[in-house]
Amino acid sequence: MMFTHGCPLCSGELYEGTSTFTVDKQAVLVVVRNVPARVCRQCGESWIKDAVSEKLEQIVVDAKLKHRQLEVIDMAA
Ligand SMILES: [Zn+2]
Repeated sequence: MMFTHGCPLCSGELYEGTSTFTVDKQAVLVVVRNVPARVCRQCGESWIKDAVSEKLEQIVVDAKLKHRQLEVIDMAA
């Protein structure tokens, strides 16, 4: 996903903010709060950077390995 000057959906202005990321798989529910993201002022869609999304994927993998049914992580902590 390339970031230019605006939201890929609506061309709205993006700002550096945070978002809550949720993965709901059959075996595991992972909630990650305060994920750094670019958020659209217009439609509210959040866009997570590649480096961050890799980290999120790792969190999901770890939760599965630990057999956690619910994992809540705060990235700001
Ligand atoms: Zn938008």
